[in-house]
Amino acid sequence: MGRETSGPLRLLRETHEERVLSVLRTRGPLTRAQLAEQTNLSRATLSSIVQTLLSNQALVERPEHTLAEQAVRGRGRPVSVVMLNPAGGLALGMDLGQRRIQVTISNVAHEFVASGAVACAERTPWARRLQLALDLVDDLTTRHDVSLTALAGVGVGIVGPVPVGADSAGLVRSDRIALVRDTLRARFGVPVYVDNNTRLAALAEAVWGAGSGVDSTLYLRLSYGVGGGLVLGGRLFAGAGGAAGELGHISVNRDGPSCSCGGRGCLERYVSLTTLQAQCNDILDARDEKARDLVAEAGTRIGEVLAAACNTVNPEVVVIGGELAETGDHLFKPLQAALRRYTHSQVHRTVRVTRAALGPDAAARGGIALVLTTSPPGTEWRTALDQEAVRP
Ligand SMILES: [Zn+2]
Repeated sequence: MGRETSGPLRLLRETHEERVLSVLRTRGPLTRAQLAEQTNLSRATLSSIVQTLLSNQALVERPEHTLAEQAVRGRGRPVSVVMLNPAGGLALGMDLGQRRIQVTISNVAHEFVASGAVACAERTPWARRLQLALDLVDDLTTRHDVSLTALAGVGVGIVGPVPVGADSAGLVRSDRIALVRDTLRARFGVPVYVDNNTRLAALAEAVWGAGSGVDSTLYLRLSYGVGGGLVLGGRLFAGAGGAAGELGHISVNRDGPSCSCGGRGCLERYVSLTTLQAQCNDILDARDEKARDLVAEAGTRIGEVLAAACNTVNPEVVVIGGELAETGDHLFKPLQAALRRYTHSQVHRTVRVTRAALGPDAAARGGIALVLTTSPPGTEWRTALDQEAVRP
């Protein structure tokens, strides 16, 4: 079959190819039907483009289910998925958390190839945290025989606010962020993306966890701090300053206690584990009546704040993570009741509230997702296609 080798048609075809590659890089393996929906391309156009990308080995095709799963599904043609060629590159995710360093490595086809964690003391200096993370990278690549020569980028989650444009604008100079970025750039020679680790957990939940397959996810993490993130169309929404989704700092009481953010009466001051444990030691113990009452009260407050956020964003899914989510219905029932009471009917009819699905490696996975959604796809396939196009 001939390819359009010049002019607008060639350009259009390249644009479509980029769209297919970009969707697969962001979303991971998809069936052809899902890919058609995500790219808005007609079945005929998509089919021709996928065929070209498969023959150039930019993509590979695999059965969606294992043989055992197919046996359960019974008759019918086995469904296959197309994905980026796993040999196309790797992404490295890191979470430099408060008490834990996590490193996770995946290929561009969304297959996780190595993952590990080490504990660290709460006030460990940033240079030391980085060293622990780099030692862990060495250990994992050696143990799993992974070569980082085809590394596309590094995504790093850190504690605390990460302003957008902190580097370029020169408005906010953060030594912590600069140290992380410069050290990792020097070590790996690839783009390094840094964001707050709760926001990265939000991105990971949207790509691989409880928000997988939906277009808009609002994430709230209820731990010693209260943070969140908003993921729209598979991408982390930053906002003008990088603080979008900071649900913990919405004020619920104008006369309340002052907060580290400069505000007063922030949600975090009422429902963080730090605050709740000061009132009841065993706050996560469902057999403790006082704990149950406090958790229910927190659930109502959280539901009220989420209602305002949901009326603003109208997300498909609200994902709740962090230790407090482990109290289950004691938290979720009053939370959902408040959410129903204070949202527009159009909003609460379409929203689903659910517990986070990923484990403690969520933020490191989010670092990988940040690389895959931010860095441009490799140019090697484009070059291969160009060479093919000029052949007679
Ligand atoms: Zn605050």
